[in-house]
Amino acid sequence: MTTERTKGQPWQEPTNHLLEENEKLKATVKELEQFVHIVAHDVKAPLSSLFGLLKLAKHPETTPDLLDQYLDLMNQSIVQMDTFLQDLIHYSRNLRSEVSSMEINVREVVEDVFQNLNYMMGNDGVNFDIAENSLSVYTDYMRLKMILNNLISNAIYYSSEADKPLVSVDFYRENGHLNITVKDNGIGIDEKHQEEIFEMFYRVSSAGKGSGLGLYIVKEAVEKLGGEINLDSELGKGSTFEVLIPLKEKAVSKKE
Ligand code: ADP
Repeated sequence: MTTERTKGQPWQEPTNHLLEENEKLKATVKELEQFVHIVAHDVKAPLSSLFGLLKLAKHPETTPDLLDQYLDLMNQSIVQMDTFLQDLIHYSRNLRSEVSSMEINVREVVEDVFQNLNYMMGNDGVNFDIAENSLSVYTDYMRLKMILNNLISNAIYYSSEADKPLVSVDFYRENGHLNITVKDNGIGIDEKHQEEIFEMFYRVSSAGKGSGLGLYIVKEAVEKLGGEINLDSELGKGSTFEVLIPLKEKAVSKKE
């Protein structure tokens, strides 16, 4: 911190408040540096793989069969990059936009998310169980969709190969809150990772193709809505994420 005397002003020791603010700023700059480093790395990895595959595809000895394989792999890299950038957009949207509320039919949003994911992920073999009740609430549509989209896509992605995959979504109103549970019978999460998975860019295994941003975005969006998220999971048995969101009384539009 600069403690130089400014012309015409008497010398003053920096206050504790200023020193604290300075420490906070330093920590933020460090986080930002880390953020840029990880983002650059996560975009570079699929891009390098695309370059390599492109070279192989153009090689004169590449047979049509091999070319097909290379194109499939290129597609995977593009999807990986697209998912990552989409996550970054959601992260920034949640950070910047004000909380709004509109009348929402929760079941319709859940069905919409499932349909979208079905189209994108091709979830053959995954059984879905969506609560039958029709529930109309006032809340933030963009954030609710973000939360459901991340939790449901994880439930599908981390399904177990041993069991018949089942993803269940339940929702109801209780004490002025919207209570949502997303349950799967997938690979589960070891207790030692259960807090860390909500951190930015944290992945339990580097084998996954995700950004490690999904649950961080979920946690941040839930907090913006004044709610909470709880996890109950056992390795090899499955996971249940429970989200509690305090509901609004009426529609409030945002002033972006
Ligand atoms: P990612 O993009 O890697 O999926 P997330 O932030 O959504 O990032 O999740 C962080 C990590 O938490 C994942 O890498 C995965 O290991 C674990 N995880 C998240 N959801 C589930 C789930 N439903 N079942 C098992 N593991 C999960």
